[in-house]
Amino acid sequence: VRTQVGIVGAGPAGLLLSHLLYRAGIESVVIEARSRDHVEQRQRAGVLEQGTVETLIAAGVGERLQREGMVHEGIDFRFDGTAHRIDVKWLSGGRVVTVYAQTEIVRDLIAARVGDGGVILFASEVICIDDIDGDTPVIRFRHDGSEHTLACEYVAGCDGFRGVCRDAIPEGVLTTYRRDYPFAWLGILAEAPPGSHEVIYAYHDNGFALQSMRSPRVSRLYLQCPLDDDAVDWSDDRIWSELHARLAADGFALREGPITQKAITGMRSFVVEPMQYGRMFLAGDAAHIVPPTGAKGLNAAVGDVRVLAAGFEEFYRRGKSDLLARYSDIALRRIWKVERFAASLCTMLHRFDGDDAFTRRMQLADLAMITSDPLAGMIYANNYAGLPFEV
Ligand SMILES: Cc1cc2nc3c(=O)[nH]c(=O)nc-3n(C[C@H](O)[C@H](O)[C@H](O)COP(=O)(O)OP(=O)(O)OC[C@H]3O[C@@H](n4cnc5c(N)ncnc54)[C@H](O)[C@@H]3O)c2cc1C
Repeated sequence: VRTQVGIVGAGPAGLLLSHLLYRAGIESVVIEARSRDHVEQRQRAGVLEQGTVETLIAAGVGERLQREGMVHEGIDFRFDGTAHRIDVKWLSGGRVVTVYAQTEIVRDLIAARVGDGGVILFASEVICIDDIDGDTPVIRFRHDGSEHTLACEYVAGCDGFRGVCRDAIPEGVLTTYRRDYPFAWLGILAEAPPGSHEVIYAYHDNGFALQSMRSPRVSRLYLQCPLDDDAVDWSDDRIWSELHARLAADGFALREGPITQKAITGMRSFVVEPMQYGRMFLAGDAAHIVPPTGAKGLNAAVGDVRVLAAGFEEFYRRGKSDLLARYSDIALRRIWKVERFAASLCTMLHRFDGDDAFTRRMQLADLAMITSDPLAGMIYANNYAGLPFEV
């Protein structure tokens, strides 16, 4: 079997790339290790930058997003027991974010690809990629117990942080930049309406807490917890009691409801450079990870895919490979700004073991600055609503 672009991974990066290539008349095959059901149920991101929303609408997959997505014009920071709203729309010159779960984007993209006759091979685990620096790279994958190959002109490694594409690049080519944070997030889904329209970021002596939502009836809530905690040690009562304590502010009532999912996630900042080697390009989490504090992971993947899809279009339509050759440089320029934003928010909002009183004062001074100084607020709002795309 042959194709023009072999895509490893049916997460948001791989699916959007395949969809954009189809619209540009370029063939692709997506190979995904997990089942369709698993991929469509996997709970992850939910806050979309304005540019991400515009990209999905322009690509013809934004109909349900426009109907069901919840537009947010601000964000609430809580510290010292008080709520401080940042007017993101006003401070960013009219831009907003939209809450629409990653699961829904993945469903919309899969439905579009399947509807257009696209090929997504689910339950097919890629084992390795041969000849990345030759003319015809070959993706080797396992499906139903037997091995298969896909020969391609190019490979897009959209297989997330734990995928195989990054490791297929010869040693010594990539430079890795990494920071692991000494805490984790306990994330829950609860069948309870969110207690506030806005997403809430709370700085508290017990640790960070966040209230977000997946729909008007389902809340997504997070608590900072020790890295070695197990979700089973967190009873529902303990979770609600910590959430009440950390999110408390005058006039706010947290709504409780049945907890339907509970999971603990570690946090890291991670970037590899360059994001391409031979005929393979890395996109999304395969090339970079951010701590989830700024809600940037999915949005960063969309930024990469825009550049990569435009590069393939220029190559296949006009025979020019200039944009493909510059893919890594263009994508990384935006990624490092996104990494800076996510890492600085993470550092400002969490308790680190051994923090001294001075460090805590600095965190509070940073929070006071972005919530009271319009210039600092503008920088925050522009990053939160999404930095511009170069391509
Ligand atoms: C637990 C968790 C919670 C998160 N929460 C948030 C959040 O609240 N906000 C936010 O902005 N971001 C969040 N993120 C980050 C965000 O979800 C990711 O940045 C986003 O999914 C990146 O998309 P992607 O397509 O690059 O990678 P992924 O979504 O990881 O997709 C990669 C795909 O490749 C497949 N794959 C892997 N290996 C192979 C293989 N060998 N063969 C074939 N297929 C393979 C995987 O099964 C997967 O479907 C979270 C991430 C995780 C892991």
